[in-house]
Amino acid sequence: MSATLAELQALEAAHAIGTYVRNPVQFVSGSGVWLLDEAGTEYLDFLAGISVLNVGHCHPRVVAAITEQAKRLTHATNLYYTEPGLRLSAALAQSSLGGKVFLCNSGTEAVEAAIKLARRARARGSIVVLEDGFHGRTYGSLSATPQEAKQAPFAPLVPGFVVCAKDPEVLRAAVGPDTAAVLLEPIQGESGIHVLSPQLLAAAREACDAVGAALIFDEIQTGMGRTGSLWAYEQTGVVPDAMTSAKALGGGLPAGALITGPRLADVFQAGDHGSTFAGGPVVASAALVALEICSDPALLASVRELGERLGEGLGELPGVTAVRGRGLMVGVDVREGISAPELARRALLEQHLVINATGPHTIRLEPPLIVSEAEIDSALARLGALLS
Ligand code: PLP
Repeated sequence: MSATLAELQALEAAHAIGTYVRNPVQFVSGSGVWLLDEAGTEYLDFLAGISVLNVGHCHPRVVAAITEQAKRLTHATNLYYTEPGLRLSAALAQSSLGGKVFLCNSGTEAVEAAIKLARRARARGSIVVLEDGFHGRTYGSLSATPQEAKQAPFAPLVPGFVVCAKDPEVLRAAVGPDTAAVLLEPIQGESGIHVLSPQLLAAAREACDAVGAALIFDEIQTGMGRTGSLWAYEQTGVVPDAMTSAKALGGGLPAGALITGPRLADVFQAGDHGSTFAGGPVVASAALVALEICSDPALLASVRELGERLGEGLGELPGVTAVRGRGLMVGVDVREGISAPELARRALLEQHLVINATGPHTIRLEPPLIVSEAEIDSALARLGALLS
C-alpha cells in the first residue's frame, strides 16, 4: 500500500464517517519512540497512540508473539479453551487485585463490564462518577462521562449515574445505601491529566465501605506502567474492589480487561456477559508480553526518573503555567494567548514531535515508557523552539 496523503484525504471525505479531526500526516511505520511518514520523515512520538504503545512501536517481542500465534490459531471463540487468554487472566489478577478477570477488546467495553458487575453485585443502584471524568463512548460509559458536548446529542442516556464534584465531603454525601459503585480515574486523562487527591480517594474508599458499594478505578490510561508503577492505584494507598484496563494492555492490539478483587470475583454468572473476540489468542499473546515488559521494576524506575526530568524541563519552558501528572503521564497548561491545539499542530508539522491538546490551553505528553533521556531532552528542545 502506498497511497499519498491527498489520496487518503479523498477516501476519507468520500467514505469515512467523519468522527475524527485528523492531522495532515500519514504514518507508515514505527519503531520504539519513532514514527515514519510516507516520505521517510521521522517523528518523535510523545503520545504513544494515546498511551497505547507503552512498550514502544513494533516491540520485537510483541511482534514475535503476534506472528507466532497468528500462524497457529487466530480465533476459536470462548466456547472452547485457548491458552493465551486464560494465562493473561491469571497474570492480570496476580499483578493486581487478586480476584478474577473478564477480558474484552477496548476500554469502553471494560467500563461496560464494570458497570454491569457493580449493578449485578447489588441488584440495584446508582453509579457515582466524578466531574471531568472520561470513561468511553458507548452508552454505559458515555453515561458515566459527564461532559455536555459528548452526552447531549445522544440523550436519553442510561439512567442511574450521579455526578459528583471532586471534593471529599461532597463525595461522601453522594454515596448512600442505593449506591452500587463509585467509578473514577485515579488520574483523569482526557480532561487534562488531573491527579485526584489522596483525601478524595480515601473518602471514596471509606464511603464505599460504609454502604457496601464497589470502588472501581478506571486504569485504562493510567495502568500498564504509565505512572511509574504497573497500576496507578499502587501509589495512592487505596486499593479498589475492581479496575479496568485497556489501551496499552494489548501492546498495540485492541485489548481490554475488567479485573476484580476477591469480593467481586464470582458476581457474574455464566451467561451474564460475553464478547465474541474477547481474550482471543493473538491479542492475548501480545498482551502477555506487553504486561511482562511493563511490569519490569527497572522500566518502572526509569518511568519515575524520566517523568521527573520531563516535568522539570517542561516547567522551565516559556509560556508554561502548570505541569501536572505522575511518571510519564504529563499535562501542561500554557498561558492565555497560546492555543494548545495550535501548539500541538505546529509541534507535529514543524518540529516532528507528536503530542496532543486536551483543551484550549492544555497539552498532553505520554511517550512510550522505553523512551531515553536523550529523547526526553529532544522533545523538550522541540517544544522549547516553538514556545520561545
Ligand atoms: N477510560 C479512560 C480513562 C480512557 O482514557 C479511555 C480512552 O481514552 C476510555 C476509558 C475508553 O477507551 P476506548 O477508547 O478503548 O474505548
